[in-house]
Amino acid sequence: MSLRFLNCFTCNSRFNAWKTGTLCLLVETNQGLALVDTGLGQDDYLYPAPFIQFFRVITQMPYKIEESAVRQVQRLGYKPGDVRHIVLTHMHFDHCGGLPDFPEAQVHLSRAEYEAFMAGPRNFFELAYNRRSIRHRPHWALYEPTGEKWYDFDAIRLPGFTPEIWLIPLPYHSRGHCGVAIQTETGWHLHCGDAAADFSRPDIPAWTIRLALGPHMPRLRAFAAAYPEVTLSASHMFPDFFATHPL
Ligand SMILES: [Zn+2]
Repeated sequence: MSLRFLNCFTCNSRFNAWKTGTLCLLVETNQGLALVDTGLGQDDYLYPAPFIQFFRVITQMPYKIEESAVRQVQRLGYKPGDVRHIVLTHMHFDHCGGLPDFPEAQVHLSRAEYEAFMAGPRNFFELAYNRRSIRHRPHWALYEPTGEKWYDFDAIRLPGFTPEIWLIPLPYHSRGHCGVAIQTETGWHLHCGDAAADFSRPDIPAWTIRLALGPHMPRLRAFAAAYPEVTLSASHMFPDFFATHPL
């Protein structure tokens, strides 16, 4: 089993010290490669949608197509078709823009998030839903709460995967937002998506996290302290995370 950490979209704030990438996980499973979130897709680089153009004003991006997940997968020696499954934390453009680069993959996510996306934008955050991300009509696998638990979190196990993969509903940043827990050789990795900020950065103001990412970070921080066999990440990790987790 291997778990790789890819930066699939560098996006640095112009207004504060929040300089980050966008973390996607590439996991070898018994069902082929699984990608957790995609970052931007190749077409997002070639033909930026209006919301992405707005983001290019409020942030500084290198905006290099080489950061797209499909280009990175190919540089690792795989074919795009080797990515058989994509698990989404949520459907904002910076997390699922790369779906069309993997048109054969089955896309796993919470039904609540799918329905929020399909309903169209109803608040500022939902402007980050870009219909172009699904223009190829993905093969969906949608999940609802089952009453299962992963540790003390409500959780949904994706069927049939070794290592085990679980969706952990952590709504707020988007209505159906989920973390993704992946079994590792030494325990677990919990990718918190946009329910948390980089845990190693105490300089990010708590009010900013609460406003943009929701109420989950204190609980997740306490959870990490209580269970050292679980490593945690967030979507928008700082550059030093990627430097210390080479491919
Ligand atoms: Zn988001």
